[in-house]
Amino acid sequence: MTWIDVPAGTRFGIDNLPYGVFSRAGHGPRLGVAIGDHILDLAPVLDDGVFAQPALNALMSRGRRVWRETRARIVDLLTDATRRPRVQPHLVDASTATLHRPFVVSDYVDFYSSLEHARNLGEILRPGSEPLLPNWRHMPVAYHGRSGTVVPSGTGITRPCGQSLVDGQVSFGPSRRLDIEAEVGFVVGAPSQRGEPVPTSAFADHVFGVVLVNDWSARDLQAWEYQPLGPFLAKSFATSISNWVVPLDALDAARLDGRSQDPAPLPYLARATPWAFDLTLEIELDGTIISRPPFRNLYWTPDQQLAHMTANGACVRTGDLFASGTVSGELRDERGSLIELTWNGRDPLRLPDGTERSFLEDGDTVTLRATAPSATGGQLALGDVTGNVLPARCGSDG
Ligand code: CA
Repeated sequence: MTWIDVPAGTRFGIDNLPYGVFSRAGHGPRLGVAIGDHILDLAPVLDDGVFAQPALNALMSRGRRVWRETRARIVDLLTDATRRPRVQPHLVDASTATLHRPFVVSDYVDFYSSLEHARNLGEILRPGSEPLLPNWRHMPVAYHGRSGTVVPSGTGITRPCGQSLVDGQVSFGPSRRLDIEAEVGFVVGAPSQRGEPVPTSAFADHVFGVVLVNDWSARDLQAWEYQPLGPFLAKSFATSISNWVVPLDALDAARLDGRSQDPAPLPYLARATPWAFDLTLEIELDGTIISRPPFRNLYWTPDQQLAHMTANGACVRTGDLFASGTVSGELRDERGSLIELTWNGRDPLRLPDGTERSFLEDGDTVTLRATAPSATGGQLALGDVTGNVLPARCGSDG
C-alpha cells in the first residue's frame, strides 16, 4: 500500500506507475510517474540526470535491468512511510501540470493483426471475394508510418486534404471520410543490432512499455492511393498516442496465452511465452461510448510482430513505436473503427443529440481508453488518448 492518499478505485495505483513527461510553472519538461491524482517528480528523488530530460528515450535505452531497478525504487519510495518527508515535496498535483509527448518517436510501424478487423475490411472493400488475403495468416502484415507526425493526446487533428476519386472524377480537397483506428502501441526501449533478428523469446528485453494509439485515417484518400504500395497520405497526417507509457511489468497480471493460430506459424514466429494482454478498449465519440474493442483476442501478438519486423536483419531503435493495428472483436459494438461500426456509412451511428455519424465531422472529439487487470486484483488503465477534429486547410483551392 502507498502512503499517498489515492482516490478509491484509481486506475493509476501503486501497481501501475506509468511514465510520462510533464512541466509546470517554473519547471521545464521532465520525467514523472502518475500515482492517483499526483505526479511524482523523479529527478530530485532519484538523483539522476536521466530523469531531468524532456523525453523517456535515455532512460529507455538503459535496458531491462535498469527499468526493473528503477520501478522497484519508485515503489519503495511510495510505500515505505519513512520516505515520506523526503518524497512528499516532489508530488505534484496532476491538475497543475502540463503533459507532453512522452518520448521521441524513432520509427513507427503499424500492424494489421486483428483477424476480425482484417476480415471486416476485406468484406467492405472487396465484397464477394475471400476477405483475408493469402499472406494474412502466415505473417503479421504491416506498413511503415510517419514518426514525425505522432502527436500526444490532446493535440488537435486538422482534417487532411488530398486526392480522392469521387463519381469517377479525381479531385483534391478535404477528406470526407475521416476515421479513427483504436490500437495498442508498443514502445521499444533497448535497441537491437542490425543483422540480428529479435526472437519472440526476447520481447521483454527490448519493449519498455505500452501506449494507446489512435491511427487517424482518411478512408477516401486511402481508397484511391493504397494500391499497390499501401497507405501513405491517408494516415501520415497524424497519429495520436497517450501521454503515459505503462511499463510492461505493470501488465504481468494481464498477460494471456495468445489465441490459437491456424496454420501454425513458421518457426521464427512461434510464441515462446504468453504475450497476449487482457486489455479492454473503449471508444468515446462526443461523450458517447460507441465501442469496447477487446484486445485479448489479437491474432498476431506483439512478440510475433517484433520477431517479424526484425526477421530480415532490420534493427529496432530506442523510441521505435509499433502498433497492433485496429482492434476489433466479433460483435458490432466491439469494432475499432467507424468504417466497421457504420459498415462504410451504410449503417450510421445515431448519437444522443439526434445527429448521425458515418465518419467524423469538424468539432468531433474522440477519446480512447483501456483497462486491464492489475497485480492487486483491481484494474489499471493505460493513459487515455484524445483528439478533436479541426477544419481542413487545403490552401488556395481549399
Ligand atoms: Ca492502423
